[in-house]
Amino acid sequence: MYWGKVIENNKMKEDVHVLKIRFDGIENFSYLPGQFAMLSPNGTSRAYSIANAPNYKYLEFCIRKVPGGKVSPVLCSLKEGETLKIFVPFGEFTLPEKIEKNLVFICTGTGIAPIKAMIEHVLNEKIYKKVNVTLVKGALRTEDVLYPELLKEWSKKINVQITNDLFGYIRYNANSVRSSTVFVCGSPKIVLGVMEECEKIGCKDVRYEKCILNQNAIKLSQLSPTGN
Ligand SMILES: Cc1cc2nc3c(=O)[nH]c(=O)nc-3n(C[C@H](O)[C@H](O)[C@H](O)COP(=O)(O)OP(=O)(O)OC[C@H]3O[C@@H](n4cnc5c(N)ncnc54)[C@H](O)[C@@H]3O)c2cc1C
Repeated sequence: MYWGKVIENNKMKEDVHVLKIRFDGIENFSYLPGQFAMLSPNGTSRAYSIANAPNYKYLEFCIRKVPGGKVSPVLCSLKEGETLKIFVPFGEFTLPEKIEKNLVFICTGTGIAPIKAMIEHVLNEKIYKKVNVTLVKGALRTEDVLYPELLKEWSKKINVQITNDLFGYIRYNANSVRSSTVFVCGSPKIVLGVMEECEKIGCKDVRYEKCILNQNAIKLSQLSPTGN
């Protein structure tokens, strides 16, 4: 367990905040892009994906304020300098050790958080020069897209698609999706839907964070930290 200190809390949308947190020892701490932390600002902990590739300065989180929620409204209201408990890192939703196939990242809403960490790694390590990388961001309205400026920047190096029909995207691009490693993050409905569409087109390599499908059951005591 670490005590983290908020170094930035920026409102990105009406109900979405980007939090940057640092803690003593972060210089020696490692995690894999795609992993998540358990954040506990008030005695109750919830899982949040780390939204940046390791940079040894801070951890970034992209948090949607759930009305009436026990933890997310507290996190979104934290002020610079305030502290919280952090348990890290958890999860196996990470890039393969050897990347040989094209990569397709599919997400909606704050599901972009772990994918942002993975794409930053892909860009930092110039993996996008060896394999094709596509980000498919599902959004009903363009104004709902998170990190719009960053996506514009990324589109100079990787294929960025914004669609209000994720499942249709998979069907229309079946040939390229089939031979790729697919990463999906979003609500359980989106994850299950993408898995089903991928199965229909014969794409077998679909990765997702297993806890997303059973998030109500996440108990800190049942998780064992990995990667550190
Ligand atoms: C591995 C993992 C990674 C996650 N990463 C992120 C992340 O990067 N960013 C992020 O914002 N969230 C993320 N979550 C969701 C997060 O863990 C919490 O479930 C969410 O913030 C709600 O917590 P709460 O305590 O505010 O609400 P709770 O007190 O748990 O719930 C209050 C009410 O809201 C409902 N509810 C819970 N979650 C949602 C939701 N997302 N939308 C609508 N209603 C909801 C509940 O069913 C309940 O009725 C992740 C979950 C998992 C399992």
